[in-house]
Amino acid sequence: MLENDILNQLKDEVTEYEYKTYISKMRYDENTSKSDLAVFIVPNIYIANWIKTKYSEKIAHLFEIYKKIKPEINIIAESQKKDVKSLKASGSKMQTRAILNPSYTFNSFVVGDSNKFSYEIAKQISQKQAEVYNPVLIYGGTGLGKTHILNAIGNSVLEKNKAVIYVTAEQFLNDYITRLSNHTMDRFRDKYRNCDYLLIDDVQFFGGKEGVQQEFFHTFNELHDKKKQIVMTSDKPPKQILGLEERLKSRFEWGIIADIQPPGLETKISIIIQKCQLNQIEIDREIINYLASNINDNIRQIEGIILKLNAQASIIGQNITLAMAKNAIKDTQKENLENITLENITKIVSKELNIKPSEIKSKSRNKTIANARRIVIYLARTLTPNSMPALAQFLNMKDHSSVSKAMKMITTEINENINIKAMIDEMKNKIQREQNNKLI
Ligand code: ADP
Ligand code: MG
Repeated sequence: MLENDILNQLKDEVTEYEYKTYISKMRYDENTSKSDLAVFIVPNIYIANWIKTKYSEKIAHLFEIYKKIKPEINIIAESQKKDVKSLKASGSKMQTRAILNPSYTFNSFVVGDSNKFSYEIAKQISQKQAEVYNPVLIYGGTGLGKTHILNAIGNSVLEKNKAVIYVTAEQFLNDYITRLSNHTMDRFRDKYRNCDYLLIDDVQFFGGKEGVQQEFFHTFNELHDKKKQIVMTSDKPPKQILGLEERLKSRFEWGIIADIQPPGLETKISIIIQKCQLNQIEIDREIINYLASNINDNIRQIEGIILKLNAQASIIGQNITLAMAKNAIKDTQKENLENITLENITKIVSKELNIKPSEIKSKSRNKTIANARRIVIYLARTLTPNSMPALAQFLNMKDHSSVSKAMKMITTEINENINIKAMIDEMKNKIQREQNNKLI
């Protein structure tokens, strides 16, 4: 079965509208695809993003059914193809190692005060391997461009025929577990200890996972000794990663730690303008200013709103208006709030603290459980519009004053104990990340 026919199978699984707007726009790229990598070209990055988040897994699964191999799925926007050096052209052993997103380049990254420091460092280490800073750790909140920068480093050094490995900490862990159970750890070591650049995304994920930390510690040491460049990202500085061994924390601080801050107004405007140009979308300057001043800081969400507006405008055959922009922002904010449910918060807190959601909702006075309940209250009050009486009802507590008391207690604790604060920030991140993923 041909690749494009495989896509036809999706017809039954998505709405007619979705099929017409997104799936039918996909073109299989024979030149860059391989047996374990399926590349599709689409007209713009919004369609690309949409497909990536909503359908990648489905498409991979269909390929697995028809071709017996589950490939990595890569969706590239037409407008960015020229920006991208073809994976195939880079040739040799490297291409099997790096599964980089070719549209995340230095060129497509808008530089502003909020991300300049990290950007400059990333550029420098792409030019000089392990000579300036090693390791490099870039940290910052969700959707601020960490993964983009990490890929930009990878894409840039790939052109120089460097051996690059890009993995998320989670993939590294999965790889480690598989190799361990297959008794093929030598191959794991062979892979991760023989590259020029190890790019590892979201290392906060290693927190609390001892086995893989030990393995990573040795990988790190060997690469560092051999003057290979290590670059990591995290959603928080290493000091605040819970359950990270001291010896790793100290190594993470050997080189340089750079942060990415939420973009300021000017940077947001530049980013919106760049995204519009890349995709030949026209929006009045006045509307761009409005969007930039009223949208939140998550650039992934900013892209999502532009996508929505562009889709709307093209359906009704009109230009994007201020009224449409206002509505889109209102909808997004509403979705943001609605997406975070009390059930969701309870689920994440109970998972983090290793107790059951039902225990949190019980009347138990057990210390761990009472503590978890207070954390749920704190997160619910800061992330959702739920009132104290509503929370009392949800958590089976006496009344709103017990909720209020609990809220005071946890707030004091957060102010006094940096570990508690870090733990709660981590949960907050998780909840928001989950909701961002759902949104787009
Ligand atoms: P993070 O890894 O920090 O959560 P990502 O790197 O995934 O964030 O960025 C989210 C989206 O925003 C991506 O599509 C990325 O291309 C885009 N983005 C982030 N920062 C910038 C920037 N400075 N310029 C252009 N696009 C950006
Ligand atoms: Mg990321």
